[in-house]
Amino acid sequence: MLKELVVAHYAGDIPEGKKKKFRAELAKFTAVINTESQQAINTGRELEYHARDPLNRYRYTWGIRRDHRTTPQCLEIAQRVEEEKQLNREKGVRLDRLKSIVREVALKYDPDYPYRDWVPHYNCRSSLRRVVL
Ligand SMILES: [Zn+2]
Repeated sequence: MLKELVVAHYAGDIPEGKKKKFRAELAKFTAVINTESQQAINTGRELEYHARDPLNRYRYTWGIRRDHRTTPQCLEIAQRVEEEKQLNREKGVRLDRLKSIVREVALKYDPDYPYRDWVPHYNCRSSLRRVVL
């Protein structure tokens, strides 16, 4: 269904009655791509950071964009990281600690959400970041 609509869209040939359906299908498709991309990027970073930092000397943070699309989940993750940074007088948190904060917050907001590491919600734009010490 989506493929036919995309082909029709690029041909400028979506029938008037199918434009709403096209936008809805495209939004779903985009959400899948955004969610999967974010998960792959963050997982790649985790693997790279873990390889570079086997002794857990580095610190990490949750990079969010603050705008009208910022979710309560990502705001809370960023706030919790900030609180722990201040409490521990450090510039970030340990990688394993950040991983568990992301998971805890995601499941707090939606216990039925099919959580995967580093994806606190669908369409997430936030990212795992290493803090330069
Ligand atoms: Zn997010």
